[in-house]
Amino acid sequence: MESDTADIAIVGGGAAGLAAAIFAAEAAPSGSRIVVLDGAKTLGAKILVAGGGRCNVTHHEVFPSDFNGSQTIIRNVLSAFNAKATVRWFESMGVELKREPTGKLFPVANTARAVLGALLERCRALNVALLTSHRVTTITRPTDADHSFQITHSNGVLRSPRVIVSTGGKSLPRSGSDGLGWDILRRLGHTVTPTYAALVPLVLSPQMFHAELAGLSQDVELSVFANGKRIDHRVGSLLWTHFGISGPVVMDASRHWTVASETGVSPTLQCNLVPGESFQQVERWLVQSASNRPKASMVTHLSQRFAERTAATILRHAGIDPTTVASQLSRDARRALVHALTALPLPVVQHRGWNYAEVTAGGVPLNEIDFRTMQSRKVQGLYLAGEVLDCDGRIGGFNFQWAWATGFLAGRAAACVNQGNRM
Ligand SMILES: Cc1cc2nc3c(=O)[nH]c(=O)nc-3n(C[C@H](O)[C@H](O)[C@H](O)COP(=O)(O)OP(=O)(O)OC[C@H]3O[C@@H](n4cnc5c(N)ncnc54)[C@H](O)[C@@H]3O)c2cc1C
Repeated sequence: MESDTADIAIVGGGAAGLAAAIFAAEAAPSGSRIVVLDGAKTLGAKILVAGGGRCNVTHHEVFPSDFNGSQTIIRNVLSAFNAKATVRWFESMGVELKREPTGKLFPVANTARAVLGALLERCRALNVALLTSHRVTTITRPTDADHSFQITHSNGVLRSPRVIVSTGGKSLPRSGSDGLGWDILRRLGHTVTPTYAALVPLVLSPQMFHAELAGLSQDVELSVFANGKRIDHRVGSLLWTHFGISGPVVMDASRHWTVASETGVSPTLQCNLVPGESFQQVERWLVQSASNRPKASMVTHLSQRFAERTAATILRHAGIDPTTVASQLSRDARRALVHALTALPLPVVQHRGWNYAEVTAGGVPLNEIDFRTMQSRKVQGLYLAGEVLDCDGRIGGFNFQWAWATGFLAGRAAACVNQGNRM
């Protein structure tokens, strides 16, 4: 069994943990021993799969409103290390980032390996010990006799006076993040809010037509309703899939559906396939189009605005034969069609599961940490960073920005404790 010591131990070597290790090593007195313990066999699984293998490192502009969680604390954290700081930091490690039209920033090399490679390389250059296959099971507080935390892991024990916990959430558990970090933190006196899958595709009832449109995407307006109230509304791209719906607008809306459905409310999802247009506007357009070309089929009319496959599917869904000529469409049928176009109920039966969720909503409440240092308000010498905290961002690089920013604050603060930063 190993018995080891460190000046700063980092539990979890994902995006937040690696950032924390680098900033700690840069700020710590020379000769400090900084150790990263990670349960996975290799580091950075999530970085490698992120952004379709290209890693959406951050976003051109990052605002607190891009996140769910305590806005004041998030604002303070983000202002300590903003998107520009991320760009400069990666540049300093030899990774240039480029901005895409959506505002997302990716490495110019177009591969997540460039991002992970730079982080690992920087850790090695700073002599950070990266210990993989070291799954931590418990952390016990320092005692009067011993000023170190005792970190028990799968290969033994590590003692360290400062510990940064960056064990992530529960999304993509095969990457090594399965929620155990929260049990460890609970035993240290922290609370953990209920957790929900977020940024997750949604499964629709097999009676729905989604499979017929699998692979097609379109801009829509998506609303989530709970208890008769609209709790979320956004516009963006929806992707029809063989199981249901995905795409940025669905991923962003999904946390509102999961939170509502798991708190006993039965949420509903409604989609306007003609974003920005009302029932009356779409009906007016259909009447006009039909009067211009009364002999054209309804699928021809709808194909002016939708892919032909979508047009035919929506018509069938509204009970209309796609070959029906416009002049023969009854008023009731037209109104059923407009209803299907502007207020289409999407019968969600479940989210696609933690294996497909990109992040976790919930975690350790932000008011249990000091946002200037990420130090725990419950246990001195304990710091928290990344997704383990109760903060989740929308799609677009925001979750990594949170990981870099909290890693920066925690790493730097943990390293500077002996230099006058003690609480
Ligand atoms: C498919 C996918 C795509 C994504 N794409 C993007 C994107 O393009 N842009 C973006 O901003 N965000 C993206 N995200 C979200 C982003 O990856 C996460 O928000 C971010 O990785 C969180 O970083 P973290 O370091 O807090 O946690 P994680 O990256 O989850 O790292 C936690 C680490 O802790 C380790 N660990 C956990 N428990 C223990 C333990 N008990 N002992 C030891 N080690 C432990 C794990 O092995 C893991 O290495 C994506 C997520 C997924 C799943």
